[in-house]
Amino acid sequence: MTAMNGSSTYLNYIGGTWVPSRTGEREASINPANKQEVVGYVQQSALPDLDDAVQAAAEAQKGWKRLAGSARGDYLYKAAAILERRLDEVATAMTKEMGKTLQEAKGETARGVAILRYYAGEGMRSVGEVIPSTDSEALMFTTRVPLGVVGVITPWNFPVAIPLWKIAPALVYGNSVVIKPASETGVTCAKLMECFEEAGLPPGVINMVFGSGSVIGRGIAEHPGIHALSFTGSNAVGKTIGQAALARGAKYQLEMGGKNPVVVAPDADLDLAVEATVSGGLRSTGQKCTATSRVIIHQDIYEPFKERLLQRIAQIKIGNGMQDGVWMGPCASERQFNTVQAYIRKGVEEGARLLYGGSIPEGIGYTEGYFIEPTVFENVTSDMTIAREEIFGPVLVLMKAESVEEALRLANDTEFGLSASIFTSNIGAMLGFIQGMDAGLVRINAESAGVELQAPFGGMKQSSSHSREQGRAAIEFFTAIKTVFVKS
Ligand code: NAD
Repeated sequence: MTAMNGSSTYLNYIGGTWVPSRTGEREASINPANKQEVVGYVQQSALPDLDDAVQAAAEAQKGWKRLAGSARGDYLYKAAAILERRLDEVATAMTKEMGKTLQEAKGETARGVAILRYYAGEGMRSVGEVIPSTDSEALMFTTRVPLGVVGVITPWNFPVAIPLWKIAPALVYGNSVVIKPASETGVTCAKLMECFEEAGLPPGVINMVFGSGSVIGRGIAEHPGIHALSFTGSNAVGKTIGQAALARGAKYQLEMGGKNPVVVAPDADLDLAVEATVSGGLRSTGQKCTATSRVIIHQDIYEPFKERLLQRIAQIKIGNGMQDGVWMGPCASERQFNTVQAYIRKGVEEGARLLYGGSIPEGIGYTEGYFIEPTVFENVTSDMTIAREEIFGPVLVLMKAESVEEALRLANDTEFGLSASIFTSNIGAMLGFIQGMDAGLVRINAESAGVELQAPFGGMKQSSSHSREQGRAAIEFFTAIKTVFVKS
């Protein structure tokens, strides 16, 4: 079977078959580097389509949960091999749909393969512990059971890695899945579904319903047949989803935005700090939840750091991510482009000094795609909008600190708490940062954007609902503990 009908239209995947939405409506997925190019059309579904998917998932889960974990893992190993074989095709779809460079898209797809293999292995690992009972004739132990049907709602910025780091653990622990991907990257998600289909997953174990956030996303949060909900996206949406899930007693997990700081101490390796700031802040056009956003620099090295940073940024080649040598692509969509432009205007209005960029790059203009220059502000104070809100674009704000202690205070002066880095050679400053920084990911002499699939991932404060994804931590969300007491 194929995900497409004859006119580049990608269908919903429900109960093991590719079906059009009952609305008959579709939405275009546009290449943000070339606005004239429609990458494909995806369904604009309605709630009855979601009902079909939930019903198929509930039916399939009955048999799926009875398989041995290793048997479920075998399906994931097969899907991994297929995704690896199709890596170039999937990465190309990703670059065309959301603009990151092909090199980054290939890296993310390879990560997707590794995620599938990691969780395939989880099917053979321990799911409980023996706990000594006070009754010497009894055996007491815990085991883990699946939750049922898991709803997955994902953003467009990591359209392979994020869906897979939710889907793979959900499946291996015995749940079935209904996913609603971001429409901007719907074609990429359809290709993932094709990999699962080719791997022979029983019909209904995984289902995909395209559609808007306000209809299908909201519908997943409110659906009585969905027992748990794993969401990644913006804070504004996450909060409403969390409330809807809480109101009906469903388990939920929210991974949301960041306003990630990098602290540059006076004893930092400046070349390393500059490179990491550029990479962490501007790779993927700044559209990573862990992207560096605030750069807090000790006053003693402020000027040399700034000079080297601007020199390095001036070398960045902007363009269509499919072309060799391009380092930074466009914003992923018109919505994102407009949001970033509005923040740049706001920064100027509120009195920050625009040091670099802020416009549409010369040569490749708005007529072609949603390109924005890398942008750097200085003279930024903590009360300014550009220091407080997540921009999700290629914008860095520089702040000056009188001491490392003040830098830590500024770094914590945000409602977010996802990722944070410090550059220093002083062990005391490192330890102070590890202990004092309120972030789920604390990184020393490394860029703020960096995730390893075998380690827990998630934020503090407003960045998360405080569960963790990835690594062994995923089992906490995707299963429930059953405590068993056996008396002979
Ligand atoms: P978004 O919140 O607009 O959309 C995310 C998903 O939610 C999409 O599938 C969307 O269709 C859906 N949605 C939108 N409105 C909805 C509603 N009312 N009810 C239910 N679902 C709805 O976010 P985005 O623009 O796609 O992604 C960017 C955001 O994602 C940024 O804030 C970024 O920080 C965050 N993000 C966080 C992480 C993390 O792990 N912490 C990772 C990547 C991205």
